[in-house]
Amino acid sequence: MAVVPPTDREAAPSEDSHTGLRRRSLGVRLAWATMVFCGLFIVLSVAVFTALAWTEGRERMQAELVQIEQASAATLSKAIWELDRDALQAHVHSAIRVPSVGRVAVKVALANQAPEVIEQVRAGWSAPGWAPARTLELAYEPFPGGRQVVGELQLAGDESVLWQRLRGALSSIVLVQLLQSVLLAALIMGVFNRMVTAHVQRVALHLARVRPGNLHGLLRLQRVEHAQDELSDLVEGVNQLQHSLSAYLEQQQRYEKELASHRDHLAMLVQERTAELETANQRLQNLARTDALTGLPNRRHFDELQTIEMRRTRREKMPLALLICDVDFFKAYNDRLGHVAGDECLQAVAHALQAGLIRAGDMVARIGGEEFAVLLPGADLEGATRVAERLRAKVQDCAIAHPQSAAASVVTVSIGLAVSRPEAPMEFDALYHLADEALYRAKEAGRNRVAGPVVPPVISSGATP
Ligand code: GH3
Ligand code: MG
Ligand code: MG
Repeated sequence: MAVVPPTDREAAPSEDSHTGLRRRSLGVRLAWATMVFCGLFIVLSVAVFTALAWTEGRERMQAELVQIEQASAATLSKAIWELDRDALQAHVHSAIRVPSVGRVAVKVALANQAPEVIEQVRAGWSAPGWAPARTLELAYEPFPGGRQVVGELQLAGDESVLWQRLRGALSSIVLVQLLQSVLLAALIMGVFNRMVTAHVQRVALHLARVRPGNLHGLLRLQRVEHAQDELSDLVEGVNQLQHSLSAYLEQQQRYEKELASHRDHLAMLVQERTAELETANQRLQNLARTDALTGLPNRRHFDELQTIEMRRTRREKMPLALLICDVDFFKAYNDRLGHVAGDECLQAVAHALQAGLIRAGDMVARIGGEEFAVLLPGADLEGATRVAERLRAKVQDCAIAHPQSAAASVVTVSIGLAVSRPEAPMEFDALYHLADEALYRAKEAGRNRVAGPVVPPVISSGATP
């Protein structure tokens, strides 16, 4: 089973940035738990093994004592019977040389002899103790059926030998158990690390890298494909969660797109409606400022324009000329040819006046029934008179037959003109009044003509009446 190599983040214990607690691998914790358990197990097993070793040591010593008994009983009995003290001493000496023996004593108990004890004790031996002790009755049979008790053999084991043997056994027990425990802990840690910890780290790393943009990158652990266990359940759960999240986010994005397109559509509608309203409003404004019959600016618009032009020409120290044009005998024209013809005539006159203006700033407006006003910014008396004459001629040149006119056979206009000069600027009302007066004089003088301001008469002292 291949395992993804751990990255920096997966390295040895570090401090958790959220809790401030020291991070410790699960494998290390498991190893510690195993070590503690093994420690307890060692104590217990050493106790049991020690008890067993002690019992075994005692039994072994017992067997050695029995062996000595068996080996020396016959010769000892014979030596006692024959009163061979040297032999008895030699036997006792050889018996005490056996390492597990602490004390050897031979009691001589012959019928015609005083009891006697031949004894050998190992240095440092003390009784009573934990070591086994045996007493064997010694009997001799000088002739068949003549068995006689001649004494007894007393053997006592050396307790220090028991302890010495136990110590030897104990150290190997502890060593083996310790080794066993350490190896077990290492094995568990290694296996756990390989089978669990590395994969859990991989899952944690994968989750840390998950972003809304990479939800389609599924989690895969590098291990046996068909492994079905808690880890495979975890992987399946993580992938399922990513799948659900991805579907949810996609749905959210769809909703947001729909919402945005609705919003755009709405904004477009609002924009369209606003534009339509603005156009309608503009049209309304134009209508309100335009004369419906001739298409020229109406009286209202003219008042606005004259205010602007008055200010401008005064500011720029320019003259401003005003012409008032009135169709001659128009009532009679109407009466004779009808209102519709009258309207058409007015349209033709308006067109002729408009066509007669050449300069960009000049403008004409219809200010009454058959009355038109012309503003000529920058025009002095001479220029204004020239323009007025041209307009009058333009109308006449239209050659609209006027059967009722006393001025001409065609439709004509009379024009009154006034000029506001920069050196003596005047209010518009005054200018208008002067132009109107001039118009009156043009009418008086016979119509179809231009009249300007009244030139004061030059009074000559030598004049004759
Ligand atoms: P004068 O030569 O002195 O200017 O006499 P006039 O008849 O032209 O002037 P008057 O003021 O007596 O008559 C103006 C006439 O213009 C009265 C009216 O019937 C006519 N009129 C005013 N507005 C319109 C209009 O919009 N259409 C038509 N067809 N006639 C109009
Ligand atoms: Mg009039
Ligand atoms: Mg008129």
